[in-house]
Amino acid sequence: MIGAVIYARYSSEKQNEQSIEGQLRVCNQYAEQNGLTVLDTYIDRAMTGTNDNRPAFQQMLADCEKAVAWDVILVYAIDRFGRNSIEIAVNKQRIKKNHKTLISATQRTSENIDGSKNLDGILLENVYIGLAEYYSAELSQKVKRGMNENREKGLNPGGRRTFGYRAENKKIYVDESEAEIVRYIFQQYAQGVNAKDILADITAKGVTHYGKPIPLNTLYNMLRLKKYIGIYHCANKDYTNIFPPIVPVELFNEVGRILESNKKGSKSNDVEFLLKGKLLCGHCGKSMQGDSGTSKSGKVMYYYKCMGRKKYRNCNKSTIQKDKLEQIVIDTTKQIFSVKENVIAVADAVIQSHEKRMYNRSLLTILQNEREEIKKSLSNIMKAIEQGIITATTKSRMDELEQQLADTENKITIEECKLQNQLRREQVIEYLTHAVIQSPRLIIHNLIQKIVVYDDRINIYYNYLNKMPSPDNPPDNGEYLAESGHNNTLTKGCSDFSLVVSPNKT
Ligand SMILES: [Zn+2]
Repeated sequence: MIGAVIYARYSSEKQNEQSIEGQLRVCNQYAEQNGLTVLDTYIDRAMTGTNDNRPAFQQMLADCEKAVAWDVILVYAIDRFGRNSIEIAVNKQRIKKNHKTLISATQRTSENIDGSKNLDGILLENVYIGLAEYYSAELSQKVKRGMNENREKGLNPGGRRTFGYRAENKKIYVDESEAEIVRYIFQQYAQGVNAKDILADITAKGVTHYGKPIPLNTLYNMLRLKKYIGIYHCANKDYTNIFPPIVPVELFNEVGRILESNKKGSKSNDVEFLLKGKLLCGHCGKSMQGDSGTSKSGKVMYYYKCMGRKKYRNCNKSTIQKDKLEQIVIDTTKQIFSVKENVIAVADAVIQSHEKRMYNRSLLTILQNEREEIKKSLSNIMKAIEQGIITATTKSRMDELEQQLADTENKITIEECKLQNQLRREQVIEYLTHAVIQSPRLIIHNLIQKIVVYDDRINIYYNYLNKMPSPDNPPDNGEYLAESGHNNTLTKGCSDFSLVVSPNKT
């Protein structure tokens, strides 16, 4: 049996600081799992100001000097033991003199519970100390715990301020003047006033959020926001103890019904023009854009129209039915990519581009070496501190190194993410073959550079360049124009857009 005490500290200046209860729970659990018997707890509740008046901590250090039945001081995280690296090192030195061991319940430390050296823990400890804040994993673990406890207690869950509420002493309160506006918005909408008019109305009255007029989509979001009836949904759970209700449930539900029916009604206005941004008029070279009109029978028709004709009335290109044109483009694309060589050509272009990125692996190696160097320097400084060698420049040098280490870690993470995106040729080929059948629109979006529409034919220019569908690598139209060798021009004779397509590779 090894005797231990728990030291917990809560600092009010840190956001989402782990609560005392949370720290004790984690420490007790750790003690139980590791054969430690907790004999006492020392707790410093939130201190005001920045003074180093931590009575429980001082008491614990004093107790270390006495004949006590414990050898281990258990903390939630090493940063409990001081507010900066030097303080931690000095305090550790003090307890070490009295043969006490510092153990963190959430981090590996330089010593094991029995006081023996934990070699890989030494490096880790040096990194944790003072750097815990920078470690996103550590940080997010703490933040998550803190936020979860906050929610259970009905405290402010954080994040951007919601219109209608204000935060005070960690609690959410109704901001009465804004709540009035929220209710007004709901009432107006329930009475059939449309959102744009409501917005114009309140904006004219000078209503702002974060100092700016409320945007239309925010207004729509507000109309759906369950916080206004007191429900806050987070981590698969509804919390009713955080946001006081502002809007009566009946009014909220009524607005919900109207939103739903308007959504259905407006669906037809929400038609996706698949060839948007790709279509050019063969007569005047201007873009052709989606448009709609109502036929004599009252049916809404969708088509693409030359902007030269619509805006400047200097082009006589006839409009084209949306569905027909899109179907031709889809069919043609499927046909093009049913030819294995075409798929391989695109796949190779993709791989080529990826290899360019792979070439940057050398950058990762450089960064990794850099990181090792910084860690070595940090470790050396820590050793010096533990031996009592502290100069005026030590602290600033240490801060500098810690900042460097954090920066380097970030860069490494970014490079690693890039490289994880590795592609194999077969994968790409498989992707293209399937995607063209399953989601031709995706292929159209990514692999078609432009489509030029004449009266008697359509030219479709496919990107055979090294641009692939990926969010961080959107196809950059225009760049391809200079690279004519990479374009596959499909020319087809076509007058009424129902002719059979015959690919004509150039
Ligand atoms: Zn035109």
